[in-house]
Amino acid sequence: MTNHLFSEIHANMPDPAKTFLETAEGQVLTYGDVVGLSARYANALAGLGVKPGDRVAVQVEKTPDALMLYLATVRVGGVFLPLNTAYTPAEIDYFVTDAEPSVFVCDPSRADALKETASKVNASLQTLDANGKGSLRDLAEAASDTFEDVARGADDLAAILYTSGTTGRSKGAMLSHENLASNARTLVKYWQFGSGDVLLHALPIFHTHGLFVATNCLLLAGGSMLFLPKFDLDTALKLLPRATSMMGVPTFYSRLLSSSDFTQSLVSHMRLFISGSAPLSAETHKEFSARTGHAILERYGMTETNMNTSNPYDGDRRPGTVGFPLPGVDLRITDPETAKVLAQGEVGIIEVKGPNVFQGYWRMPEKTAEELRVDGFFITGDMGRIDEEGYVAIVGRSKDLIITGGFNVYPAEVEAAIDEIAGVAESAIIGVPHPDFGEGVVAVVAPKNGAKLDKAAITPALADKLAKFKQPKQVHVMDALPRNTMGKIQKNVLRDQFKGDFE
Ligand code: ATP
Ligand code: MG
Repeated sequence: MTNHLFSEIHANMPDPAKTFLETAEGQVLTYGDVVGLSARYANALAGLGVKPGDRVAVQVEKTPDALMLYLATVRVGGVFLPLNTAYTPAEIDYFVTDAEPSVFVCDPSRADALKETASKVNASLQTLDANGKGSLRDLAEAASDTFEDVARGADDLAAILYTSGTTGRSKGAMLSHENLASNARTLVKYWQFGSGDVLLHALPIFHTHGLFVATNCLLLAGGSMLFLPKFDLDTALKLLPRATSMMGVPTFYSRLLSSSDFTQSLVSHMRLFISGSAPLSAETHKEFSARTGHAILERYGMTETNMNTSNPYDGDRRPGTVGFPLPGVDLRITDPETAKVLAQGEVGIIEVKGPNVFQGYWRMPEKTAEELRVDGFFITGDMGRIDEEGYVAIVGRSKDLIITGGFNVYPAEVEAAIDEIAGVAESAIIGVPHPDFGEGVVAVVAPKNGAKLDKAAITPALADKLAKFKQPKQVHVMDALPRNTMGKIQKNVLRDQFKGDFE
């Protein structure tokens, strides 16, 4: 038996001298380095006692070494468990206690604060800093640069990835070698990644978008990455001329558009811009096309399922939609109450099935049973509809659905109408308790840079576009909407802030 995921990555590698990644400071890792350095880290992990199935929990800054630690964990047969760098030691204590890793790697500046947490679960505490230095790097340097990969099958776990915590406490999604390999295989083909690609990589690597979608795709394609610690507008503008492709969350695109230096000539050579992790507004999509001539390709995925749908590479990339189910992914829309499959065009819960769908939530059997149907479909919690041509559109999360006076209001529809109003940068529609209607529709709107917004003008501007019950009964203007580290709007924060609107 081979190591299912790493063997596939290895088998697809180009010439060892080819660049796999380059940092903004000019540090280069070739494909040969990838094999050698991940072997060193694998030897280090094996030396610390990591056995097949053991978790390796990691809360470190985004560095080439951190990426090698991911591959090393896979090669040693372990389960890679990256944690959001924004989590405080108190939050980390919950995750590490839950995961019981055999090794826990953190930033040296936090080692003292996390010592007790590590010892509670008998994890070996190691360090790795923002420059790729630390106790684990020392062990790796002293180790051999060859490693015999531990045999792992398609269904063995490769990673546990925590969800973004947008709707509640993050859950650990267990992902198998084949969950990751199959999705990367599909995406390379669908998005036509090849060895000539240079991806501008500015996403975090503790999340599925930057870690699996971006990294595994480029590894399988034998391409290269310009690897930035985070999205920084000036650095992105400087490096885009050297890139062929970029993956981003919607805020990357609105930030690029906010700069007058972001011009068509800067990106006319680019092959592909991809957006996901949160809804890309149709307005941003259109503005981007008008400015650059590129239609952003929007896709839809989640931690539990990897990628589910994508707009086409060739063909119409439709603003406000997430495209078609990917090859191998079955997608259906069901009635939230009866679970019956709905007719084309109707709005309901999106369910998906395929080799991309996870193995369940770590140590949450009840939650797993609630969200995975016996026929293998996963209940995503997102609501959507499929149009006559097969494009899927997301209308909001089921938790964000508003029921006002007995009528359903899908936030995305109202947000799209508000985003068209001059001077509006973005908006969030939420439902808050209302004495007569159950819930009342509330709009929270952020103005474009420098624009003055009159909140009394918002609802009248919707009069011709939306039925009365969908129109906001209250409007708030905020400089910026609250977002979590993945750039997702935190509607729970807004609901809490404005819960007294109709009291
Ligand atoms: P949690 O599950 O902890 O509440 P989360 O759902 O935000 O957090 P992720 O797995 O990172 O955690 O995000 C997946 C979700 O992101 C999807 O279920 C969907 O709601 C949203 N999403 C991803 N891509 C898109 C997209 N293109 N358009 C709209 N929503 C998207
Ligand atoms: Mg989720």
